[in-house]
Parts: sequence; C-alpha cells; structure tokens
Amino acid sequence: MEAAAQFFVESPDVVYGPEAIEAQYEYRTTRVSREGGVLKVHPTSTRFTFRTARQVPRLGVMLVGWGGNNGSTLTAAVLANRLRLSWPTRSGRKEANYYGSLTQAGTVSLGLDAEGQEVFVPFSAVLPMVAPNDLVFDGWDISSLNLAEAMRRAKVLDWGLQEQLWPHMEALRPRPSVYIPEFIAANQSARADNLIPGSRAQQLEQIRRDIRDFRSSAGLDKVIVLWTANTERFCEVIPGLNDTAENLLRTIELGLEVSPSTLFAVASILEGCAFLNGSPQNTLVPGALELAWQHRVFVGGDDFKSGQTKVKSVLVDFLIGSGLKGLQLLGLPLYPQTMSIVSYNHLGNNDGENLSAPLQFRSKEVSKSNVVDDMVQSNPVLYTPGEEPDHCVVIKYVPYVGDSKRALDEYTSELMLGGTNTLVLHNTCEDSLLAAPIMLDLALLTELCQRVSFCTDMDPEPQTFHPVLSLLSFLFKAPLVPPGSPVVNALFRQRSCIENILRACVGLPPQNHMLLEHKME
Ligand code: NAD
Repeated sequence: MEAAAQFFVESPDVVYGPEAIEAQYEYRTTRVSREGGVLKVHPTSTRFTFRTARQVPRLGVMLVGWGGNNGSTLTAAVLANRLRLSWPTRSGRKEANYYGSLTQAGTVSLGLDAEGQEVFVPFSAVLPMVAPNDLVFDGWDISSLNLAEAMRRAKVLDWGLQEQLWPHMEALRPRPSVYIPEFIAANQSARADNLIPGSRAQQLEQIRRDIRDFRSSAGLDKVIVLWTANTERFCEVIPGLNDTAENLLRTIELGLEVSPSTLFAVASILEGCAFLNGSPQNTLVPGALELAWQHRVFVGGDDFKSGQTKVKSVLVDFLIGSGLKGLQLLGLPLYPQTMSIVSYNHLGNNDGENLSAPLQFRSKEVSKSNVVDDMVQSNPVLYTPGEEPDHCVVIKYVPYVGDSKRALDEYTSELMLGGTNTLVLHNTCEDSLLAAPIMLDLALLTELCQRVSFCTDMDPEPQTFHPVLSLLSFLFKAPLVPPGSPVVNALFRQRSCIENILRACVGLPPQNHMLLEHKME
C-alpha cells in the first residue's frame, strides 16, 4: 500500500483548467417499477458535467459554543498541528495529528498498479481542499472564559500540551451570545456571563455584524458557522410561527419564540454563510430550511455522529446485511423480546450535565433512536413493513469520568433455527477527541461542495448541490436530507456517497470493489 500526495486523471473526459477541473461523468443507476406483482428494473444513464473551482479560499469557521469541550478541543487541535507540537506522556512523546478525520486520515483507492496492487491517496488529495492548518477560528459562547481557560476547564488534553498551547489560546475570546434559559438545562445558568442584550431582532443583527466583522478583520473569503453549543430542547413547529421563511423572520421581528440555534442559523443564512448543526435539536425548522433555499445557502445537520452511533450504524448494518434478525443493545438486564436496542452511556462533562435535564435528553434520545430505520427497512425478508426493534436510549451524568464517555452496548440477533448471537461492546474514550475531527471534516467538505457545480445533458443550466447538504450524512447522527430523499444511516453507504461523488468530480467511476482483474484466469 502506498499513499501518494497528488494525482491527475488522464482521460479525454477530464480537463484540468487554470480555474477549474471539469469532468464528464456517466451516472448509471436504475429505476424500479411495479407491474402487478412483478418488479421491473430499468437501467438508466445520465451524462453529467462536474466543475470544481481549484482556488481554495481563506476559510474562517465560527463556532457557536466555542468555549465548550468540542470548541476548545478543535481549536487546540488545529493550533497543535500548525505549530507541530509534541509533548511527553506516561507512554512516551505524542505528536499532533488529525486521526479521526475522514478527509485528513482516510484514504481512497485509485485503482491497481502494474503489479496488481491497490494505490491509495488521502481523501484530501482527490480534489483541492482547504488545509486544516490554514483554518481561522472565531465564535460565540455564553461563557466568557478565554480559550486557554476553556481548554483547562474541559480537561481533555494532556497537561504538557495545554501548557504549550496556553499562550496561543489565551488571546482567543468568545464573542457574547444569545442566552434563552428555557432552551438549555437550568444547570447551565452559572456560566451564562457573556450575553448579547436586546430584542431578538437586535440579537440577530449583532450576530450578523459579528460574522461580517470576522470576515473583514481576518481577511477571509468565506465563513462557515457551526453550532457546537449545548443541546437545546426541541422547538415546536407551529404554523404562522416558524413554518415558512416569512413567518420565521416575522417571529424574530416580533420577539416571539425562537431558539438561539435557529437565530444563529437565520443570521448565517442571511449573511450567505453555510450553517451546520452539531447538536440534536430541530434548529433547522421548516422556515429556516425555506430561507436557506431562498438564499441558496448550504445547511447541514443534525448532531455529530461520533462514537456509539457510528458503531451502531456499522453493526446494525452488518447484522441485518448478513441476514441476522433482531437486535438487543444493552447496559440493562436483557429484555424478553428478541428485537430491542438499548443503548446506555454515562459521561461527566458539561454536555452530560446539560443532558441530565429531561427536555434536553429528549432531543438526544430522538436523534439516537432513528439511526437504524433505513437498515431495518432495507430488509423485508427479516422485517415486515412497520415492524421494528424496540429502541431505548439511556444517558447518565457521572461527573467523575469527565469527558471520558462510556458507552455500553449489547447486540443480540437471531440465528437460524432459533439460535442466538450476542455481541457486547464497552467503549471508553474522550468524547471531544471524537467530535473535533468530525467538525473539521464538516467545515472542509461543506467548503468543497460550495466550489462544485454541475449540469446534465437534460438540463444544461449549471446548478449546485441542494441547499440541504445530505452529502454530509456520514458525519451526522440524524442526517437532514432534501424533502422526499431517502435518509441513509448505514455508515459505509454514507462514506461511499462522499467518496463516489468526489471521484465523479474527477471523472472516475464509483468504487465497486469487484476486482474482476483478479478473478480471471
Ligand atoms: P459543552 O457543554 O462542553 O460545550 C457547549 C458550549 O456551548 C458551552 O461552553 C456553553 O457555555 C456554550 N453555550 C450554551 N448555549 C450557548 C448559546 N446559546 N450560545 C453560545 N454558546 C452557548 O459541550 P460539548 O461537549 O462541547 O458538546 C457540544 C454539543 O455537541 C452538545 O450539544 C453535544 O450534545 C453535541 N455533540 C457532541 C458529541 C461529542 O462526541 N462530543 C457528539 C455529538 C453531539
């Protein structure tokens, strides 16, 4: 295996121009129709032209909740990599890296070389992407601690690393933010000392001013806004209040109910900045989605897909994909039913404390519960329509374990002829070290998507991806997709989607793993 840094596709279908890479691409898929009891499958083919601008912008990322565990850890990670820091630990010296990032540490196979061996390149080499070390950070937090103090409060990084980062993080100070107490847990009130005063309309204006100020003072070409603040309670979607863009803007003007996260989404969209939601609540209410559509701005969500859910979306895919029925996932006594998923966590960071309140827990519970739906529905041999495993999610706040989250899972599936197959997982790891590389990938992939346009032989008018950026599904627990589009939760289907779309942009066929070259005499 070899990791090359740069490659070019030599094909009459691909042109590397000074400004853009243009690729002709044949999208082959199928349409299925039902006639009587018979399924008829029709192969189809559409010719696409993909155009990817090569100029990589100077990119700024604004984090809402910058002073939290995720925000301070991501900022520290980029600084540590940029400064090439290393630090002693009890198991030897460690060096800064981007492990856990699909774009920085994942690879793509380009094909076989003359010896019949696969050649791999990093994901980030497929198309021009912003280098993470060049990102500029800013953001908001209701807590006024500077980023060095926030890093210390988070207790995620080794002390030797914190000491070296301290002088670089001390000058970074979150901008004041919007605090509406009823949206997050009451236990958060003590840290709310850095607030934007005024009416909702004035707060919206201040957020927009902040974005403009960051863009001009840091000399940026683009800004992306990412919500990594506390999980909020769900917001009721009410006709007249937040169901359309017009109603949502009027609601803000009149000071009626709107969540802080939705206020940030609206401000970002109005400033033409992509908005990504890393928490489970329904920030992107229908009115916000319509606003994104009207302004042609990308939005993505919801809830970073980091540890337990990532494993679940692999294991459930494996079990159901292997034809094994029934799931049980546990930290609790076994349930008598053969089809249940019980997913148990405990954690001791501020996220855990916030989630110990019922309404905020409910947002997380909903987000964690839907992740197996598509896999269950994909197998009508095992599951009749409407049949699904029971799914119970438990989260407990245990301060002592800090950011080092525990996830206990037990999967029980049915084998043939009444047999039982039980898998038990116990995962311990720093939650923020899982989330930070995902946040990085979200920013880098969203920015890349902003430089891609395409047309088809049927519709020669160039267009960009749908404003609801479902390509990011790999990185979100409860992926938002355009209306009518199927939600895919299975992890490797989501990864293939990103990989194959990036390949299409340089005129390469989808990765098919057939290796027919090695199956011939
Ligand atoms: P955290 O509590 O350490 O950080 C959240 C920060 O947001 C805090 O500093 C808080 O002061 C701030 N905040 C709260 N309300 C705010 C507002 N209205 N405006 C600006 N700042 C505000 O939590 P964390 O561990 O960094 O996680 C952040 C979010 O990411 C949580 O919602 C969590 O559920 C979600 N998440 C985390 C992971 C993970 O693996 N770490 C995975 C999925 C989702």
